[in-house]
Amino acid sequence: MQRIAVLTSGGDSPGMNAAIRAVVRKAIYHGLEVIGIQRGYSGFIEADMGPMNLGSVADIVHRGGTVLRTARSEEFKTPEGRSKAFANVQRFGIQGLVVIGGDGSFKGAEVFNREYNLPVIGVPGTIDNDITGTEFSIGFDTAINTVVEAINKIRDTATSHERTFILEVMGRESGYIALMAGLAGGAESILIPELRQSIEEVCDKLKRGYKRGKLHSIIIVAEGAASGLEVGKQIREMTGLETKVTILGHLQRGGTPTAFDRILASQMGAKAVELLMEGCRNHMVGMVAGKVVASPLEAAFHGKRPIDLEIYNLANILSI
Ligand code: ADP
Repeated sequence: MQRIAVLTSGGDSPGMNAAIRAVVRKAIYHGLEVIGIQRGYSGFIEADMGPMNLGSVADIVHRGGTVLRTARSEEFKTPEGRSKAFANVQRFGIQGLVVIGGDGSFKGAEVFNREYNLPVIGVPGTIDNDITGTEFSIGFDTAINTVVEAINKIRDTATSHERTFILEVMGRESGYIALMAGLAGGAESILIPELRQSIEEVCDKLKRGYKRGKLHSIIIVAEGAASGLEVGKQIREMTGLETKVTILGHLQRGGTPTAFDRILASQMGAKAVELLMEGCRNHMVGMVAGKVVASPLEAAFHGKRPIDLEIYNLANILSI
């Protein structure tokens, strides 16, 4: 193998740059050439790509976002789109591909491998942490730290005014951000899409808390469980308590990656290159029990990673 390519696809996440850096430098260390593909599968189709060198990834390890930029490409979902991408594989002499992205991007990579037999390795980059095959995906740690920081700030003002705060966080199908940030931030209730929870229960818990002298309450709502505004309105109507709603939105996707995410991204990016050199194809890298391992790519999109119920129960016990 002489020449590999790397792209970032789907939703961006902090630490993707550290992963790109690791892919490029590890490959060059082993004498490989690297092509950087811009804007995910869109750039793959449109030949928006070019050689990368050691300097191309200088000064990016600490930056959020992705220097290769990212996109969603409807055209890549069609056989015609993928055949254009394959023409570029031949034109640029690409012998292996590293795809940094979420399960949608992995699906695209798997379909492409099946059709054109190009070895592909997936590196999980998504703040949602919902990919089967890894306990952590790149960007999740940074995202929950952003949420915890917001909880800390809200806690200050909540105490001063004795109000109930509702914080809506990202996670359309996955409650991982809400759950982990809620546990770390000491939230009273955590609403996640994986579990059906009644507002009555949330209200009962709130009332019990205020009765025993709690000065404030913080409720974390994953966007896929309910709308923060709606939860605020219902609690107000059912309890008479004053509620304030904050929607964190895209703040959670940005920011300088935490040390954990940079370390994870560096290990995963390097492992992806190793796997390609060993002749591995159609796999993703993942962190399992503290080790970076490879698992079949298709495992990633056969069902979302289930929520950790033990953590959910613990958060409930600790916020009693
Ligand atoms: P993420 O990787 O963050 O889950 P998406 O689900 O939007 O993001 O997927 C990113 C891109 O992967 C899509 O825009 C599309 O180009 C490609 N993709 C997703 N599913 C498929 C598929 N079934 N076949 C081919 N390409 C796909």
